[in-house]
Amino acid sequence: MKLRLATPGPTEVPQRLLLAGAREIVHHRSTEMEGLVHEINEGLPPLFGTRQPVYSMVTSGTGAMEAAVANCFSPGDEVLVVSNGYFGERFQAICRGYGLVVHTVASEWGTSARPEDVRAAHGEHPDIRGVLVVYSETSTGALNDVRGIADIFRDTDVVVVVDAISGLLVHPLEMDAWGLDVVLAASHKGFMLPPGLAFVALSDRAWEAVGRGQGPAYYWSFKRFRQFYPMSSSSPAVSLLLGLHESLKMLAEEGLPAFQRRHALLGEAAQRALVALGFSPFIREPHRRSHVITSALAPEGVDTGHLLKTLSTRHGLTMTGGQAHLKGKLIRVGHVGAADALDLVAVLGAVEMALLALGHRFTPGAGVGEVVRTFHEEN
Ligand SMILES: *Cc1c(COP(=O)(O)O)cnc(C)c1O
Repeated sequence: MKLRLATPGPTEVPQRLLLAGAREIVHHRSTEMEGLVHEINEGLPPLFGTRQPVYSMVTSGTGAMEAAVANCFSPGDEVLVVSNGYFGERFQAICRGYGLVVHTVASEWGTSARPEDVRAAHGEHPDIRGVLVVYSETSTGALNDVRGIADIFRDTDVVVVVDAISGLLVHPLEMDAWGLDVVLAASHKGFMLPPGLAFVALSDRAWEAVGRGQGPAYYWSFKRFRQFYPMSSSSPAVSLLLGLHESLKMLAEEGLPAFQRRHALLGEAAQRALVALGFSPFIREPHRRSHVITSALAPEGVDTGHLLKTLSTRHGLTMTGGQAHLKGKLIRVGHVGAADALDLVAVLGAVEMALLALGHRFTPGAGVGEVVRTFHEEN
């Protein structure tokens, strides 16, 4: 059975990127690797909208979230976590683990954080050192207005930490212009690579906070990242860097505007298709929908747990559902990275076959038809 991923990380890795990493290990202090790392270091910052260096770390995305907290804050510091999903909750847990005093601006799963609520929370807690926010909340498919939130802290020394792990590349992000201080990303989302690399960029304001920090970080120390830049302090994930070098080429060939248009269209097509099959959009406001995934609530009588199981056992397709209280109710169709119209046709075809097998009634082809129509109308 052919295996397919419609998950928001890890994502399908194009053969071109798999092959780039499938070669003998080059030593990281060799001339070849130095040249390659130089090109990677040149290629990454424009994708973050920054003139600052972007550091690559060997970890999944969560390691980068933890490193940001470990480096920028000290035990006892007050921070504000903006939370409207699972990854916002993860930020809270990490901050508590590091002994920070955590204030939360929570909004219901499926909604986006309102900048005015963040402003009000800042008024209540004027001593906060940082605000941590997720750009594209992958657990629900909601996009947060990180630009609007960062604006609130422009003339303060509050460090704005953004988990852009799934949102980077897929949605516009201008770190310098928007006043973001720490921006995190990872290899297994928009970059179309296997998991294992994460990225962090820091503003001058963030570096001041790192300078004040009292944490014991060694392997995760941003100061060491800077000290060893452009190379790394310890063995990098050479195979993944070879892949990343090729991924940056692919992104440059397509161009970021086209990459973002493709994702917007995938989101639009998936949403229309699911509605045609009786699902209802989980994110109500269209402009707050992340284009990383499309999330929808199942029609009456359909348990998404059964649906996902059928998709995987009968069709080799992995898709994710809802976490926590949304288990059994939500599906999340991942279409980040290399996904294209034909992938989405296959995914919706499998969803239709699985729904029919589970006894749900609709006109076969209704969902696939919406995908075809959406892409046809665009061309
Ligand atoms: C994928 C993801 C992460 C990191 O998850 P890992 O499994 O540690 O890579 C963090 N935040 C968001 C928004 C994500 O989509």
